[in-house]
Amino acid sequence: MNPDQLIRDEIRALTPYHVPEATGYVKLDAMENPYPLPEALRAEIAQLVAHTDINRYPDAEAVRLKARLRQTMGIGPEWDILLGNGSDELIQILAFAVARPGAIVLGLEPSFVMYRMIATFAGLRYVGVPLKPDFRLDREATLAAIRTHQPALVFIAYPNNPTGNLFDEATLLEILAAAPGLVVVDEAYHVFARKSVLPRLADYPNLLVMRTLSKLGLAGLRLGFLVGARAWLAELGKLRLPYNVNALTQVVAERVLGAMAVLEEQAACIREARGELFRALKALPGVEPYPSDANFILFRVPDAERTFEGLKRQGILIKNLNRAHPMLAGCLRVTVGTPEENGRFLHSLATCL
Ligand code: PMP
Repeated sequence: MNPDQLIRDEIRALTPYHVPEATGYVKLDAMENPYPLPEALRAEIAQLVAHTDINRYPDAEAVRLKARLRQTMGIGPEWDILLGNGSDELIQILAFAVARPGAIVLGLEPSFVMYRMIATFAGLRYVGVPLKPDFRLDREATLAAIRTHQPALVFIAYPNNPTGNLFDEATLLEILAAAPGLVVVDEAYHVFARKSVLPRLADYPNLLVMRTLSKLGLAGLRLGFLVGARAWLAELGKLRLPYNVNALTQVVAERVLGAMAVLEEQAACIREARGELFRALKALPGVEPYPSDANFILFRVPDAERTFEGLKRQGILIKNLNRAHPMLAGCLRVTVGTPEENGRFLHSLATCL
């Protein structure tokens, strides 16, 4: 017996999710918040960590953390919350829950790659509906695909990764009304877009809203959450592994969410820097940036491979999407960093177009 005989064909065909070695680089590849927490808050966190009994399992229901999330995110008592070790884990729970033979997951293309990958992990069929060439939703194509494929699960990133745009809300609601199964609206970049379908939960019983603390400044903690009707989350919760949110994440996330103003202020700086970065990219001959509601900007250059490698040689790491999807040919994606990092990136970019 060898892996060829035992491991499913579709798993052997996968390329692992690639995380590049980033030590020493100006790291603008992964949509992280570039700002550290204030010293006083870090000192408080150190105390909290020191006094956490890590010889014990964490609170399996993360009661205090969920209460804090309700408060800071404005989640009413009528909705339930499911926590994940990052929102990636929630995508996996969702896929496992609907993985009947022949069941379909529908996503938009290009979008967040984990929807497709996790559908494959769970043995589901993935159908990708192309966006329009300018990355808006193709209303007719999407509604037609829903009619044809009757997906058990639809994933929509709002704003979308890697394109950065928010989709038209009216079309999103039409999709919700047309979908026979669950529609997960992934609001990972909510803090940078400040638009949400959370207030629509009551109108669409098949809607679940997913968010993460990763882009807000807590990527290292790994905490995602899903919000929706109790009937759905009670079933999905059965697939959650016991203690999936560790004790340190629970205490630290609860404390930092208590200082939400700090994170909001950092997000405001990032939004402002995003505008400046967009204008600077637009001013560079041959560079075509796409407007963004997130903390990154997708842009097209004449020779993406050359530009990506040139930036890397100058110590700047961004994301090369040139070969990720045919619609992304010539595209690179840069995370909005500090003004200083953005300046260094722009300066180097001008030299390697
Ligand atoms: N959703 C979207 C749209 C993303 O871009 C990402 C991260 N790149 C995630 C979910 C996953 O976030 P995490 O697992 O860190 O919560």
